[in-house]
Amino acid sequence: MENPLRNLPSVDQLLNHPKLQKMVEQVSHSAVVQKVRTVLDGVREKVTTAAGEAHIPTPQEIVETVAGWMRKEETQKVQVVVNATGVLLHTGLGRAPLAKAACDRIAALSQRYASVELNLNDGSRGSRTAALQSLLCELTGAEAATVVNNNAAATMLALGALAGGRDVIVSRGQLVEIGGSYRLPEVMTVAGCRLKEVGTTNKTRINDYARACGPDTGALLRVHPSNYVIFGFSEEATLKSLVQLALEKNVAMIDDIGSGALLDLTRLGLAGEPQVKDSVAAGATVTLFSGDKLLGGPQCGIIVGKRDAIKAITKHPMMRAVRIDKMTMAALQATLELYRDEAQAVEAIPLLRLLHTDVANLKLRAGRIVEQLRDHPQLATVQVVETQATMGGGSLPTQQLPSVAIGLTGKTMTVDQLSAAYRSAAVPVVGRVNDNQLLLDLKTVQPNEDRLLIEALPRGTAEPNAN
Ligand SMILES: *Cc1c(COP(=O)(O)O)cnc(C)c1O
Repeated sequence: MENPLRNLPSVDQLLNHPKLQKMVEQVSHSAVVQKVRTVLDGVREKVTTAAGEAHIPTPQEIVETVAGWMRKEETQKVQVVVNATGVLLHTGLGRAPLAKAACDRIAALSQRYASVELNLNDGSRGSRTAALQSLLCELTGAEAATVVNNNAAATMLALGALAGGRDVIVSRGQLVEIGGSYRLPEVMTVAGCRLKEVGTTNKTRINDYARACGPDTGALLRVHPSNYVIFGFSEEATLKSLVQLALEKNVAMIDDIGSGALLDLTRLGLAGEPQVKDSVAAGATVTLFSGDKLLGGPQCGIIVGKRDAIKAITKHPMMRAVRIDKMTMAALQATLELYRDEAQAVEAIPLLRLLHTDVANLKLRAGRIVEQLRDHPQLATVQVVETQATMGGGSLPTQQLPSVAIGLTGKTMTVDQLSAAYRSAAVPVVGRVNDNQLLLDLKTVQPNEDRLLIEALPRGTAEPNAN
């Protein structure tokens, strides 16, 4: 019997195919060769292990397999998208977009050498976060500050450094899970602390904490319930009373406020979000918050508080494993500088600007976009819809922000096909499906992106590639 594998095309033959030639030019020779080899190996394996007669793919079929694989890899690359979901801090879309000043600072500092850990005054080895510390103290009123990779790391480090090997007292109403793998009881274990739960799900009083304090207590921990609310009869101890108790018992008071607003955001329609400076003023030993939530900066975890506590944290052996890089330093430094002037911050930080944009403005823009899309051959209905945007990113779960969206339905495409078509645009547009229409929410769209909403769906008669 003739060996069926003798008909299998060679790598060189396949590489001569125009489609793969194009991929070689666009991506790289070695990437295409590697994939061709892998596909051919797969075929050989299948043929030699098959019980009966195995199908030998034609060169065209192999080319299509390789090309499809390459296309899939291209779309998996992280790339710019238009966030039309109406979720301002969408973790899947990178949370807060950075201010231009932050991006410029990243570019400027990253292409050259930078004084990351060099004290230019005396030439000695400096602290990585010294400049950030001064800015953070200025903006929050704290004695000292440090910055790590994210708030999860900040929590672990603060617990480990201030209460390692001891009990940490937490209200049962605050034992949170934030995004799948981050669950407070587990973080506590990893940090080397013993969790001591007090109170009940809906009511915890300061006396519950006081009764639980003993010789093994290392800290009281308060966690801001960022992504849920307990309605009805509920009560938590005030920060002031917790700080007082911690002082009496000589233990640390760790305040994880989650989002960490540096400004009073009630003016921008957000009520009830704790401000960093209030936590500091109340006397928390340390206050923890994310850099990429309401602050509108890069991903990082910021710790501000008492000098001795910050010192203990920066000396913790895990500090090195969670330290920030120079790009984060650059972006955070530039973002914090904008906060020196409130009006400037609201103007220059995209997240605050989006929050600040009012419904009248959104309606005006929506009207213009609808005008442009009205005669689109692929769309059956195009309308302005009043909606509710949300903060997301584990912030302000119950706050709805009045917003305006473009509501679309397709002529031949289902709503899922339509949303896939928008996602496969040259600049992908991510909307949300509601009530059988695709909503493109303008609360999260920057005005210079409006054009992309109009151009995303091809006007040609061919149905776009919706898979
Ligand atoms: C979001 C959040 C965290 C986790 O912060 P990351 O920066 O995402 O690691 C921790 N605690 C609270 C209360 C939060 O809201």
